[in-house]
Amino acid sequence: MDILACPMCKNFPLILKVFQVDKRYNVKDTIKCEIYCGYHDENIKNLPLTKCEECYSFEITDGLLICNKCNRWYPIIDDIPIMLPDGLRDLKRETAFLEKWKEKLPKTIIKDLKNY
Ligand SMILES: [Zn+2]
Ligand SMILES: [Zn+2]
Repeated sequence: MDILACPMCKNFPLILKVFQVDKRYNVKDTIKCEIYCGYHDENIKNLPLTKCEECYSFEITDGLLICNKCNRWYPIIDDIPIMLPDGLRDLKRETAFLEKWKEKLPKTIIKDLKNY
């Protein structure tokens, strides 16, 4: 999984927290993330090609992308990173998401939702 930039401050890469993955099949052995591999939390130039076979055989179904520059976070819900700027965020959906994964969340995340 390639990591996206923060839509608010353009920081890159974001920190990835994985809550749940699905195993995929029929992964091509030549496939590789671009620029930055979120699964390995590493720049691509530091990774051997074979390493990304692993990350393409998993789909992150639930997780969190955290910006360590502006301290915003973005949920990954049903395989899709929800990268919305302030004001467009779906508080109801995100609150339900946080409730589902509250055991795995960093403490600061729960508190910060109220600011969006
Ligand atoms: Zn990768
Ligand atoms: Zn940011």
